[in-house]
Amino acid sequence: MKTYREVLHMHLPARRGLQNITRQVQRAVEASGVKEGLVLVNPMHITASVFINDDESGLHHDFEMWLEKLAPEKPYSQYRHNGFEDNADAHLKRTVMGREVVEAITWGKLDFGTWEQIFYFEFDGKRDKRVLIKIIGE
Ligand code: ZN
Repeated sequence: MKTYREVLHMHLPARRGLQNITRQVQRAVEASGVKEGLVLVNPMHITASVFINDDESGLHHDFEMWLEKLAPEKPYSQYRHNGFEDNADAHLKRTVMGREVVEAITWGKLDFGTWEQIFYFEFDGKRDKRVLIKIIGE
């Protein structure tokens, strides 16, 4: 069995933002040489998510509005975690959107449904963050 590990370096200019990382993950799959296997992708942080959905800007806006209703950033004083930091909303948003994705690799490609793309969702940006890509298979 082959294994492969790669780390993507992220630095989003705003507190929140969404980035399609499908191409980087596919490139890692190609670099791994794995034709049949699995790829795991997760942020190495507790205030960002990696998830699979549609690459459609209206939907991305809807995610942002929906998450802001569920866990509004402000007022900071509404959260016990704040006072120590001001990112309680980021922890909550990340929990809703999930930690990681696991995707099948078939014939050396990501074995997606028609509209599936992999996204990094930042909830506490303006700083360096990392995304782990781990591939196993043969
Ligand atoms: Zn925190």
